[in-house]
Amino acid sequence: MDLDFTKVPTPCYVVDERLLIKNLEILKKVEEEAGCRILLATKAFSMYETFPLIAQYLSGVTSSSLHEARLGYEEMGKEVHIYAAAYKEEEFDKIMHYCNHIVFNSFSQWNKYKEKVKAAGKTISCGLRINPEYAEVETEIYNPCAPKSRMGITLEYFEGEDLEGIEGLHFHAMCEQNSDTLERILKVVEEKFGAYLHQMKWINFGGGHHITRADYDLEKLIKCIKHIKETYDIEVYLEPGEAVALNTGYLVSTVLETLHNDIDIAILDTSAACHMPDVLEMPYRPQIIGSGLAGEKAYTYRLGSATCLAGDVIGDYSFDAPLKEGDRLVFCDMAHYTMVKNNTFNGINLPSIVLYSEKEGFKIIKSFGYEDFKSRL
Ligand SMILES: *Cc1c(COP(=O)(O)O)cnc(C)c1O
Repeated sequence: MDLDFTKVPTPCYVVDERLLIKNLEILKKVEEEAGCRILLATKAFSMYETFPLIAQYLSGVTSSSLHEARLGYEEMGKEVHIYAAAYKEEEFDKIMHYCNHIVFNSFSQWNKYKEKVKAAGKTISCGLRINPEYAEVETEIYNPCAPKSRMGITLEYFEGEDLEGIEGLHFHAMCEQNSDTLERILKVVEEKFGAYLHQMKWINFGGGHHITRADYDLEKLIKCIKHIKETYDIEVYLEPGEAVALNTGYLVSTVLETLHNDIDIAILDTSAACHMPDVLEMPYRPQIIGSGLAGEKAYTYRLGSATCLAGDVIGDYSFDAPLKEGDRLVFCDMAHYTMVKNNTFNGINLPSIVLYSEKEGFKIIKSFGYEDFKSRL
């Protein structure tokens, strides 16, 4: 680790452009070797300062709302796709303005909006989200294919419907998974929906592909994409979010206070609830540079935030030396699903957003204050 984290204000998210480029190069290689298109799912990572860089590698963005679509259109300027479980009537004209692919979650949504799309005065490629009813996601809140899911059309509700005007099918059934999972999902998708794929122009494999992880099997992914492309003569899209920003960023925090209640406790100027909500939601244990598991190194602390939420605890970590006021702790892999999900609960200030690049070093992109808290209330 060559970054000097004492040079930034805390709390702050630091994205290291060099690491982002490393991921983008892998994704670009997949695009080229497999002949597919990869989109950034902005839901996971919307730090638009980096969008011009991302645009040099990827084909565009996929969005989950009008605001995300607009951000992708204005800041990236390439393909803009959208999927939402339902669209708001008063937003739909704007959605058509910003997007060139619209994925509908049901035939009734498609039927509601298809005349508008036809009259749009621009080419918009429309697709339907299918639900293969097969996934290998164990965390229930991240499984879009669980029974009674609201996401996508199952075969039972797909058969016999009019597909006139529909050019693509979209599925999203993965979360942080390798290409062997994709291979098994595709087998189900082909068995159930293969007959329809012959009439489509494109298929979108959704997100959840952990493509930039060290043990990811790229060859299998490329093989899967080529197989679908060749069998059905269609374009393949992938829309990972997490994989674009995986391991490219940090959350830097300062120890405010240490105390003792049976165990040693350290209070930080960052919060799991406010700044890294997935730590509590998923839940998971983020890595801290230079730390170990509880008891592994000489000094173990429970790390908590300054909020009033009793459960706003990041976890138990051990260190080589006692923690003291002013020490910096650096949480790893904090670029994705952090700044897009953070909040000002308890009036806790939002972390600054910092970009590190070879050319410019640390650059503070944004810092926040009272107005950001007040303006949302
Ligand atoms: C969340 C989501 C993605 C991105 O998922 P990652 O796990 O971040 O890769 C892509 N497409 C859809 C429809 C999603 O809901």
